[in-house]
Amino acid sequence: MSKILGLHHMTAICGDAQRNLDFYTGVLGLRLIKITVNFDDPTAYHLYYGDGVASPGTILTFFPYPTSLQGRPGVGQCVITSLSIPVTSLEYWRARLAEFSTPSDRDGAIDFSDPDGLLLRLVADPKYKLHGPWDKSTVPVEHQICGMHSVTLQESEVEKTSALLMRILGFRHDEDAEVPEYVFLVEEKGTGKRVDVATLGFGVGRPGKGTVHHIAFRTATDATQAELMADLSEVRAPVSEVRDRDYFHSIYFREPGGVLFEIATDTPGFTTDEDLEHLGTRLCLPKVHEPRRTLIEGALPKLRLPGTV
Ligand code: ZN
Repeated sequence: MSKILGLHHMTAICGDAQRNLDFYTGVLGLRLIKITVNFDDPTAYHLYYGDGVASPGTILTFFPYPTSLQGRPGVGQCVITSLSIPVTSLEYWRARLAEFSTPSDRDGAIDFSDPDGLLLRLVADPKYKLHGPWDKSTVPVEHQICGMHSVTLQESEVEKTSALLMRILGFRHDEDAEVPEYVFLVEEKGTGKRVDVATLGFGVGRPGKGTVHHIAFRTATDATQAELMADLSEVRAPVSEVRDRDYFHSIYFREPGGVLFEIATDTPGFTTDEDLEHLGTRLCLPKVHEPRRTLIEGALPKLRLPGTV
């Protein structure tokens, strides 16, 4: 088994928290699985969405910063986040998205933006498998997004990123792809196992609203994470210490093209501070910030949660 199991989550910057919440739950039909705050800045929310059981690989997270500048996707960023839908659901999603966005059709996929301009793609995925249906979703179970399909990184060149993905993270080229040198797979089965690298299409990027902050890969345990950390040190990639993010343990580093990568453990998971049934129904604070709950809660904008009036 590879030390990397696939993608764990994608984290982006957005503007208004309520608008973000309404789009990801109301339009995309994902489950709000955690309401917490930015570890490093508890004045800002950190919102997590995923499948019905908060499986790693289905997680999209957002830092709402309404006053942030509008970002621009470009070199050194993850520019497209692709999500998996059933191959029979393209028509359904085309019609659904047309009400909220201006989707454009590709071969077997639909490109669209979220309300902050974050670029998303729905892929009709032959490997689609829904692990955690969400019975309170606004989307019928037969059309639900099952998780991340892949991410597309915009780079100025492919070679160094390719070397890192293949030699350290255990990816291999997808020999079935049109241009295998730009498509990377890890592990054998399932969705969320793919990274695409693009060297054309986007110019200089700018961080801010509507752009990806980082992408995280899954690893099973603290032990496999430690092995990856050692592998990274061997090639002198500057890597952070292990950070306890309450729901997973993380290390961070920049890949050679500039995209911020995280490696997050599958454990302990999202049910450490609320049970599965109640995920995402109250503000959960990181342990370090819990003593200041009243102050923090008072300063955050109120959210209207899914299913409430
Ligand atoms: Zn992260």
